[in-house]
Amino acid sequence: MSDKDAFIQQLLAADQLDGILVFDRADLRYLCGFSGSDGVLYLSEHSRIFLTDSRYLEQARQQVEADDIRCYKSKLSGLADLIEEARVRRVGFDAAGVTVAQFEELQRLCPLAASFVPLTQRWETLRSIKNSDELTQLKYAADLNCQAFAQVVPLIRPGITERDIALELEFALKKLGGETNAFDFIVASGVRGALPHGVASDKAICDGELVTIDFGTRYQGYYSDETLTVAVGEVGGKLRQIFDIVLEAHDSAIAAAKPGMRACDLDAVARDLIAGKGYGDFFGHGLGHGVGLEVHEFPPLTAKNEAILSAGMVVTIEPGIYLPGVGGVRIEDTIVMSETGCECLTSIPKQFRQLPGTGPN
Ligand code: ZN
Ligand code: ZN
Repeated sequence: MSDKDAFIQQLLAADQLDGILVFDRADLRYLCGFSGSDGVLYLSEHSRIFLTDSRYLEQARQQVEADDIRCYKSKLSGLADLIEEARVRRVGFDAAGVTVAQFEELQRLCPLAASFVPLTQRWETLRSIKNSDELTQLKYAADLNCQAFAQVVPLIRPGITERDIALELEFALKKLGGETNAFDFIVASGVRGALPHGVASDKAICDGELVTIDFGTRYQGYYSDETLTVAVGEVGGKLRQIFDIVLEAHDSAIAAAKPGMRACDLDAVARDLIAGKGYGDFFGHGLGHGVGLEVHEFPPLTAKNEAILSAGMVVTIEPGIYLPGVGGVRIEDTIVMSETGCECLTSIPKQFRQLPGTGPN
């Protein structure tokens, strides 16, 4: 029995469910191969039925592994018909994948037949451990980052705008085969670097600034996520100091990452180092997050998450320091946990890099 089948049987047994409904897009892709934006999978002990609308029927026939593929006019009434027909009593669903309005409508459409039970475990727990095919796609997506960045780095000069850097990266990634941007790229230069999520603006890069570039793409459904902070021309001592601290925090966390440790303990490696240098108040976000069929998925690497890290998990390591009015630094790699430690999937060198400014270099 595959890990997926075993997990399904475990979910069915844990809550004495007759069936499970899967709504979430990433879960659907993971469980049955469907890459469209609208469909539902019904799983029971002995069958799996996929439902979608007419737009996706042909695509579903090509992609989906299921015993039956059905077309509905309205998703919820199509589901209600299936539940009536299969005479199921208890149906599980992922509470995070269904809106309150959908839940209430399903209950209304199935007044007697079924009760709907939130699942005790989320699919993302299963999804967090990547198999070798998934790691191949994730590595490919990470390599696209590296190739695109190599094309764009000569353009990062005083005068180019943040927006143009983001557009050049997007164009290069898509030309190389990236399916879509992983998120709105962050290009934050100078004092804007203090904004951890400073989406690229019309600001031009100036000599003597740090530029933080956070970008990624998708390949075969799997995402890449990586951040560099580069200097354009000579940067001041304070900026160089925080760069060195963030790099040390990043390198220390990667060196410390081992299967069996808790997510919060890995977060603490970087957080304690930054706090020890006096910048604890300026690292406000978690150390990282899982990456896979979603760019932010389980497990989050935060001070609160006690989940155990296991071999096959893919997570980012992205400490940062953000000084209002001064600037900021974030350095991010995506790693895969191995049996003994971890390996980086992203491969752009992260050491201090000074690009030509307007002054003598
Ligand atoms: Zn990122
Ligand atoms: Zn990230």
